[in-house]
Amino acid sequence: MSNILYLAEHREGSFRKPALELASYAHALARQTGGQAIALVLGKVGADQLSRLGSYGTQHILHAAEGSFDPMDNGIWSTAVAEAAIKVSARLVVFSASLQGRAIAPAVAVRLEAGLVAGVNGLPSSMQPLTVERKVYSGKALATVVVHTEKAVMTLSPNTFGLKESSGDAVAEVWTVPTLPSLSFEVLETSRSEGKLLLSEADVVVSAGRGMKGHEHWKPVEDLATVLGAATACSRPVSDEGWRPHGEHVGQTGKIIAPNLYFALGISGAVQHIAGVSSSKVIVAVNKDPEAPIFGAADYGILGDVHTVVPALVEAAKRFKENS
Ligand SMILES: Cc1cc2nc3c(=O)[nH]c(=O)nc-3n(C[C@H](O)[C@H](O)[C@H](O)COP(=O)(O)OP(=O)(O)OC[C@H]3O[C@@H](n4cnc5c(N)ncnc54)[C@H](O)[C@@H]3O)c2cc1C
Repeated sequence: MSNILYLAEHREGSFRKPALELASYAHALARQTGGQAIALVLGKVGADQLSRLGSYGTQHILHAAEGSFDPMDNGIWSTAVAEAAIKVSARLVVFSASLQGRAIAPAVAVRLEAGLVAGVNGLPSSMQPLTVERKVYSGKALATVVVHTEKAVMTLSPNTFGLKESSGDAVAEVWTVPTLPSLSFEVLETSRSEGKLLLSEADVVVSAGRGMKGHEHWKPVEDLATVLGAATACSRPVSDEGWRPHGEHVGQTGKIIAPNLYFALGISGAVQHIAGVSSSKVIVAVNKDPEAPIFGAADYGILGDVHTVVPALVEAAKRFKENS
């Protein structure tokens, strides 16, 4: 019987899809080990939100509401998670492969002397020894990883397991992290994009690259996103140029996403870009170069000029919506 601990990330006290997907995953793991799925919640979250975790199979919640859990201080977060893992005798600690999860997981693995598997995309095929698959080479291959340490830490790629509701109530325990370090730096300013669909949660993402030729040409990209109810994203040079905010940059050095539908408009498809989007269920590429590598990754390719194809897609999507 081995317990599973997962970090339930929240946004200002509200659990979003990645946290609920991770709860579903932890529950499925707990069924394999015969242990409990235990959530760690750091910071203030209301009882109504905590109870949502129970609906996805969580049996127990450690809630450390008091304390300064600055999301940027990985030292504080990794200490808290490692302490919680020891407290509940967790054999497996799982995170979403979010920016925060990816930053903390290795530090927790070091503290627990546990093996780390980053970016798993399903349940282990064996628990003894832990054997689980992860994507490698920008999603072009699958590696089967065998972990020989007693404990293991994993990050779950977003949108790979899905939400699986389950009946049950989670018992919440108020907890104080015993040895929380103080903030190791001062945050002078934070800024956040407001009122938009979160990239990490969007089912449809419309992304554009340097082929758009400049920020002044982004209106059709935004129009397509609006008509499809999609989030917008971009390649790295686009955010480096300041055409779009850095929060939209996807790829090896940006966000890793796995929407059901990903539009790559005027994006060449460099391996560093594909690394962030290869788990998308369907990729549609628009490019004027028939040799562009993006066509090798795409399920559907449109050979043409983005400046004519994208407005035509917007009109077609509008007509489709009107008639359906
Ligand atoms: C260490 C490292 C990390 C990196 N991390 C990332 C990352 O996280 N994310 C990322 O995106 N990149 C990353 N890069 C950069 C990456 O290698 C590419 O340079 C980048 O992805 C290219 O962006 P792009 O496709 O927008 O631009 P380009 O390579 O310039 O491609 C533009 C594309 O648009 C097409 N095009 C041009 N005009 C039109 C038109 N009118 N109509 C239709 N198509 C048109 C062209 O045919 C071309 O295929 C990284 C690089 C390094 C070295």
